[in-house]
Amino acid sequence: MFKIYSEPLNAEKLKAEAENPTCGALVTFEGWVRNHNDGHDVTSLEYEAYNALAEVEGERILDEAREKFGLKQAVCVHRVGHLAIGDLAVWVGVSTPHRDAAFKACRFIIDEIKVRVPIWKKEHYVSGDSGWVNCEECAKHGHKPKMDYSRQTVLPFMGTAGQEKLAASKVLVVGAGGLGCPVLTYLAGAGIGKLGIVEHDHLEASNLHRQFLYAPKHLGEKKVALAEQWLKQYNPSLSVETYSARFQTLEVEQLMAYDIIIECTDCMNTKLLVNRAALKAGVPVVFSSIYQFEGQVQVVTSESSCLECLYEGGVPKDVPSCAVAGVLGAVPGVLGSIQALEAIKQLLQLDGRLENQLLLVNLADYSMRKLALPKSSQCPAHDLETPLPEPIDITVEELDQLGTMQIVDIRNSDEVLAEPLACEHIHIPMDQLLNQPQLLDKDATHLLVCAAGVRTQYAANALRSVGYNKVYSLVGGNRVLNQL
Ligand SMILES: [Zn+2]
Repeated sequence: MFKIYSEPLNAEKLKAEAENPTCGALVTFEGWVRNHNDGHDVTSLEYEAYNALAEVEGERILDEAREKFGLKQAVCVHRVGHLAIGDLAVWVGVSTPHRDAAFKACRFIIDEIKVRVPIWKKEHYVSGDSGWVNCEECAKHGHKPKMDYSRQTVLPFMGTAGQEKLAASKVLVVGAGGLGCPVLTYLAGAGIGKLGIVEHDHLEASNLHRQFLYAPKHLGEKKVALAEQWLKQYNPSLSVETYSARFQTLEVEQLMAYDIIIECTDCMNTKLLVNRAALKAGVPVVFSSIYQFEGQVQVVTSESSCLECLYEGGVPKDVPSCAVAGVLGAVPGVLGSIQALEAIKQLLQLDGRLENQLLLVNLADYSMRKLALPKSSQCPAHDLETPLPEPIDITVEELDQLGTMQIVDIRNSDEVLAEPLACEHIHIPMDQLLNQPQLLDKDATHLLVCAAGVRTQYAANALRSVGYNKVYSLVGGNRVLNQL
């Protein structure tokens, strides 16, 4: 709660209101009236507030802090009226499960209150004078320095008109990993108005060598929140919307709110789904994939060829991920930079943008070439009446959506012996399952489990292609299931 008080504040009573038995940390801030300011001897001071507005804005700040830091309890009160030296002027108290969030939240609340809540301070001096004061530090906070795009607007094809167009643009980035980091950074730096970020993963140590938005101290935290935090620091004018989920959970209508999508995952199933969903939404997509020193970039629009036109006659279902194939950080760095550049070219409709072409980049010998890629009349993806394919990959968090299901362990017998599944399941090794799919009931829901979720993705795709439409692949494999 946020309140304006005209009576003296009682810190002990307020502390009792801020306590929460589920929390391990309570951090408080007390602002006291001191006897000097800016070289003047102060005798007393007055606070005046626009009460109704102040309380609404104060509550809003507490709501933001709750959302940002997971607060269980937040109390802030501000005195108004005539205050003597040594009076308590403002009190903030927050309770959270852990101390780090409590310190940060308390700091956030008092900083925001000073800048945003309409409360004014008048100081009375020993000399008999008095005056309304503006805190220098607060004033600095209130006027955040802005980005200077002059090095960009000077470009003949950009100018202020191009810059304004970028500022009005909304870009959705799917995946905040090796490709996503340069894409997000260059688009934020270029002055794109709004970035949406879709990313469900938590930061792992093996991400760090190529994903430069994150630091080792953030291991285990949600990447989407870390990316948002960094990007807002980098460009304070940027608006960021985060989707802490997998792409398959987004509705076509949500995609339509964006001008362009940049696909930055290393998951073939996600790419195929983005392709179909974006065609339905009528939003262009910039795709990229990498394999060791090689990469490719393709732009898909409503009029152009699409990802499935490229794979006419059979979409590769088992493209290796970075975890399997290995990756040198600079390679997604180059390809992600090309994606960001291409997005800007598309938004500004610049010459030389990709259209019905596939750009092939080989960083082993630094060669680049463009292949013509015409739209295929046989490609099923352009039939917008076809419903979107059922997602194949599923995370443990999403398992409830499947309802009743049978778990099928498709690992080899020696893997099963070494790390058995703790829950109820049946065991059919992958080779056997692919040879005898009839071992499964076509109408029942099956969750396939392997060691990492790569083999199950392949097997689920193969089974779907022969009519087993309720077969799913568990992301992360047997360990995530055993951790439940
Ligand atoms: Zn197509």
